[in-house]
Amino acid sequence: MVAIIESDCTGCDLCIPHCPFEALLPLLESPPNRTKAKRPVVVVESQCVGCLSCIGSCPTQALHELITPPSAAKSPLLNPPKPPQTEPVNRWKKGGLRWA
Ligand code: SF4
Ligand code: SF4
Repeated sequence: MVAIIESDCTGCDLCIPHCPFEALLPLLESPPNRTKAKRPVVVVESQCVGCLSCIGSCPTQALHELITPPSAAKSPLLNPPKPPQTEPVNRWKKGGLRWA
């Protein structure tokens, strides 16, 4: 799986089209006390399959690989937390980002 360090994420959105599973989405609202002007992008864990297609797409290295727990019963893929509220992103309609 992957994770994003919120304080290192500028909200540039460059990583979004690198995810074929639409697991990288902008938060609907910036968290309180955020110092950067733009809202961050988050990993929607229920949609991330850990393919690592997005690795390397982040210019600030906010996006990084997480080691999956050795016991499958502990994997966040099996029991993902409630997804955060995110902005819709046009991926596949006319003018959409598509897949990088
Ligand atoms: S690891 Fe794969 S599924 Fe998960 S966010 Fe990155 S590209 Fe998407
Ligand atoms: S590419 Fe990096 S800095 Fe830009 S939105 Fe994605 S995680 Fe944030």
